[in-house]
Amino acid sequence: MVFQGLPVSRGIALGRVFVYAPFKARMGERSIGGEDRAAHNIRFNEAVKQAVAELRELQKKMAAADPGKAGIFEAHEDILTDVAIIEEILTLINEEPCAGDYAVETVYSKYEKLFADMDDDIMQERCADFRDVKNRILRIWAGAEQQSLADLEEPALIFAHDLLPSDTAALDRKNALAIVTETGGSTSHSAIIARSYEIPALLGITGVMAQVTNGMFGVVDALEGKLILNPGEGERKKYEQKRAEYGRILEETRRFRSVEPVMADDTAIGVYCNIGSVNDEELEAAAWTGGVGLFRSEFLFMQGKTLPSENEQFRVYTKALEAYGSRQVILRTLDIGGDKTVESMDLPKEENPFLGCRALRLCFQRTGIFKTQLRAALRSSVHGNLALMFPMVGSLEDIRRAKHYLEECRQELESENIPFNKNMPVGIMIEIPAIAVMAEAAAKEVDFASVGTNDLCQYLMAVDRLNPHVASYYQSCHPAMFRLINQTAAAFEREGKSLSICGEMGGDPGAVAAFIGMGIKKFSMTAANVPGVKRMLTRLTLADARKLAARVLRLTTALQIEDVLKTAAEKLLA
Ligand code: PEP
Ligand code: MG
Repeated sequence: MVFQGLPVSRGIALGRVFVYAPFKARMGERSIGGEDRAAHNIRFNEAVKQAVAELRELQKKMAAADPGKAGIFEAHEDILTDVAIIEEILTLINEEPCAGDYAVETVYSKYEKLFADMDDDIMQERCADFRDVKNRILRIWAGAEQQSLADLEEPALIFAHDLLPSDTAALDRKNALAIVTETGGSTSHSAIIARSYEIPALLGITGVMAQVTNGMFGVVDALEGKLILNPGEGERKKYEQKRAEYGRILEETRRFRSVEPVMADDTAIGVYCNIGSVNDEELEAAAWTGGVGLFRSEFLFMQGKTLPSENEQFRVYTKALEAYGSRQVILRTLDIGGDKTVESMDLPKEENPFLGCRALRLCFQRTGIFKTQLRAALRSSVHGNLALMFPMVGSLEDIRRAKHYLEECRQELESENIPFNKNMPVGIMIEIPAIAVMAEAAAKEVDFASVGTNDLCQYLMAVDRLNPHVASYYQSCHPAMFRLINQTAAAFEREGKSLSICGEMGGDPGAVAAFIGMGIKKFSMTAANVPGVKRMLTRLTLADARKLAARVLRLTTALQIEDVLKTAAEKLLA
């Protein structure tokens, strides 16, 4: 069986299928007969016992891997064994009489809502803990297996209908050979993480979940966008060779990782790195990049069951700053919304989340969370070269409002005698076309900006970056993209302010060559793209880059530009 998908993270993998289908509770009948009460009592008590055993096991594992997170499972055990909650559940089972799973759902949901309605952000976070514990009991009640991608038993191809960015971020990198999903687009955050983890990924294969079972053998060719299930012997051999050949090319390019990012005519270019956490693998790039051009801070919020405190954030930001020494680290403030949800924030469901209360808009609503992050960032600013960047800026009012909260935090820290860097640069992301059009005015308000091409394309082309059914309309190479970025670059140049690119186009050698020709000198990308971009730079001159840019700016369709950039990149990387 052969399927076609969207190859969003390059590579080839062969292996056994692991079907990831997180448990979703489905209730049976609400009422039970009086004669069933005893059985439901026993079943509930057994479920609690098993849940405690699971949590202790998790605590043990986490204590070894990440002691900070082990406390979460202790807290879950406290909720699980809370005498008052157990009493309420048993009362429902015995007095209504109500089915055990219904009783669990009813009682836990009541507490979830209670905490969600509280004014205090910290209390609101507790709601996710109740939901988590509830799901654990309901899964055990239903006799479903516990599944986690963080801890795979053996190397496998991961198949899922959809992967949340938090699933992908927690992925067992050692054993995940490839990712295949039915949904998602090339700039979905799961795709971005897959690329940064260098895990081959094929997205958007509709209906594939009905065709796979655990243990089935498959080939994922995320160069050509092909999935082959149950391949014959000949095909298997062919792909083993192709995998080896691709590995050799990768190795060769990797040699360029540590070279200085200098063009053939000695023009220096800034090659920075995009990170989402401060684990050893991500910080490894500190050895061969000029700094962090985009620290997606929201991943810190997506991994835990509770929101990170000011001190926790301070420690994480400081760790990144210390790894990069005098080189700049640009911390992007919380960009939640769209495909990035935070379990512990209990956000309302929106019809159009990418057009909804996302990023800065959400921060303006939850100022407690926003200010906690700003305080943590300011406090860490004395430990290195930190810059702060606001995402999803649409207007000058947005910039001024965000800076107003930053100023409040500065004053608070000053009155508390806590040191911070008073000259920390403050910038914005250019992602909403409106602010790109207003670039000249925006540049006057900030120290720098960075173009988020992933969202800029989504909003400029009016196409959901996650929806595989409209993937062909998501044209990063649309002439409007290059023309708008060119105008933005000119406006920032006139104001003497730096403009970089930190979306996925910033790691694409062909596009980078054209942007250099438009005067952009700083690019931030996933670590995996650094060698390819540096390799391309060694062959490119400013004169050629300008010619390429001029040509691209004359063209009128995405297809023409794609062709020109592909040919240019092939020539430069040959
Ligand atoms: C972008 O939109 O290009 C960007 C870098 O931000 P994110 O992908 O996290 O939305
Ligand atoms: Mg974005």
